[in-house]
Amino acid sequence: MQTVATVAALREHVVAARRDGRRIGFVPTMGNLHAGHHSLIERARANSDFVVASVFVNPTQFGPNEDFDRYPRTPAADAEGLARGGCDLLYLPDVAAMYPFGVAGTMRIEVPQLGDVLEGAIRPGHFAGVATIVAKLFNHVQPDVAVFGRKDYQQWLVIRRLVADLGFPIRIIGAPTLREPDGLAMSSRNQYLDAEQRARAGTIHATLASMRDAVLGGDLPLAAIERQAFEHLTHAGFAPDYAVLRQAEDLAEPLSGRRDRLVALIAARLGSTRLIDNLAIGGAIDGEV
Ligand code: AMP
Repeated sequence: MQTVATVAALREHVVAARRDGRRIGFVPTMGNLHAGHHSLIERARANSDFVVASVFVNPTQFGPNEDFDRYPRTPAADAEGLARGGCDLLYLPDVAAMYPFGVAGTMRIEVPQLGDVLEGAIRPGHFAGVATIVAKLFNHVQPDVAVFGRKDYQQWLVIRRLVADLGFPIRIIGAPTLREPDGLAMSSRNQYLDAEQRARAGTIHATLASMRDAVLGGDLPLAAIERQAFEHLTHAGFAPDYAVLRQAEDLAEPLSGRRDRLVALIAARLGSTRLIDNLAIGGAIDGEV
């Protein structure tokens, strides 16, 4: 695996691979890679012939009081893991490469509606930061296929919308969430949890599973299921931001009576650590599971 830090060096490798007739697969990350990220690399390998991964902790998707400074950075272990996982090229740009006119001077892609709810309501500007950096990375790498995790469900929908709205000729694959044995979704932020918090963190997935079972059981109204989930999390010592049931394709409130192709989504703080997770209910929105 080669590592490059500039657009020019990246392009040389990608152009050469394409000249050889290879399809380019791309996995953008913020580093501190775990098995969830590695599963995306594997999926990219299965759907392309030359896999590029990027590691870039993007300042514009963090709010002023969020964890940008303390976000875990482990570049040597990341490079080693990517090489072992069969990644062909690691793109490791710095802030100047991604924001040549500075963070304050950058053009931005806004994400109205879809980017305003749930995570977007709690983290204003977050999805504009995500859409902007992903658009830049897409233009740098020019992949045929890009793989994102459904762990960040709303982000995955935002990327699908970005590609459909701005016309990027890129196929987006949504990969399933990798979990710890107790159901906790793997995340770089899990390491912020102390031992006692970690022992309780599986409650989020258990609550999502209860929401799914209640929806499929068919007796309780969706609003009651949401309320119970929120209360359950609160009693278990979490500070939930939301525990909701939404339409899987657009995160709108479900039409009356609808109980298929929904998604249960939870965001909750445990101490100072904010965790998000979700579970598809009654069928996913496309076949790429
Ligand atoms: P991040 O480095 O957290 O920005 O994540 C990079 C990519 O990995 C995103 O597409 C995430 O959705 C995905 N990802 C993060 N955690 C998981 C997980 N537990 N399972 C599958 N994909 C994940």
